[in-house]
Amino acid sequence: MAALSFQASQATAAQTGASQSRIIIESVTKIFRDRTTSVEAVRDASFRVSDGEFVSIIGPSGCGKSTLLRIIGGLTPVTRGRVEVAGRSPVEAQHRKDIGFVFQQPALLAWRTVLANVELGLRLNPGAHREPLCSIPDMLRLVGLEDFAKAYPYQLSGGMQQRVAIARALIFDPSLLLMDEPFGALDEITRDAMRYELLRIWSQARKTVLFVTHSIPEAIVLSDRVIVMSSRPGQIRDVVDIDLPRPREQDLETSPQFLACSERIKKLLRTREPERMSSTT
Ligand code: ADP
Repeated sequence: MAALSFQASQATAAQTGASQSRIIIESVTKIFRDRTTSVEAVRDASFRVSDGEFVSIIGPSGCGKSTLLRIIGGLTPVTRGRVEVAGRSPVEAQHRKDIGFVFQQPALLAWRTVLANVELGLRLNPGAHREPLCSIPDMLRLVGLEDFAKAYPYQLSGGMQQRVAIARALIFDPSLLLMDEPFGALDEITRDAMRYELLRIWSQARKTVLFVTHSIPEAIVLSDRVIVMSSRPGQIRDVVDIDLPRPREQDLETSPQFLACSERIKKLLRTREPERMSSTT
């Protein structure tokens, strides 16, 4: 079994000097076409994510955030451009179980206990080339559910269900975690708490994370960098470095540095696009 260090430390790979690119996106365009319509979801996007980094993508609804995530996860092919995950195509990376997913809906099996739902992460991802990240009881401890191993999903709150989904995605030890609005369906109070819970889990599991969100505070609290997208067709407006010290606590959200990051992202989101011809319908 691979050793999992539970030492609380929130140093990132960038801070420790490792800088290998886990994700490379170069000039990526995605156009969805059927017989009558064509929708340009993403236009000419380029960015890299280093090993161990936490990077968020923020932008208006429909700007192509999920599409980008699905492209990186090998679930949607690109129309043009280059995508690499850990030196491979996304589909190869997915077949090698290099990628874990957490979506807005935890999609737990109602008839399986918490433990059995997490175990499913191993069954669905037998990943012959590697060991589980840790034992299932250790994983339940990591996500704070050690007392709920025998509970069924209906006995859990929304936040607890999402922790099970995170545990299920981490147990097979992917090097990259793709998270698409994982807290989008939670109430505001639970959502606020979950971002700090995720920080704690991330600091111990040390995965590269790409995180899609609509929430500016969530993006700032969690991230090393925030990719800000324009409305459709989604283009990258800018990438904002979040140079706030880690570990991060809740009082950070009232600090002048936090508010400056928030203003910068708001301004980028408000920037109007120049009028242009569109080939979409
Ligand atoms: P976001 O995640 O930023 O809300 P999406 O990536 O889900 O945006 O969608 C971007 C655009 O692409 C939207 O206009 C959406 O309707 C369109 N789109 C997404 N998936 C498909 C699909 N499978 N077929 C056709 N259009 C799609």
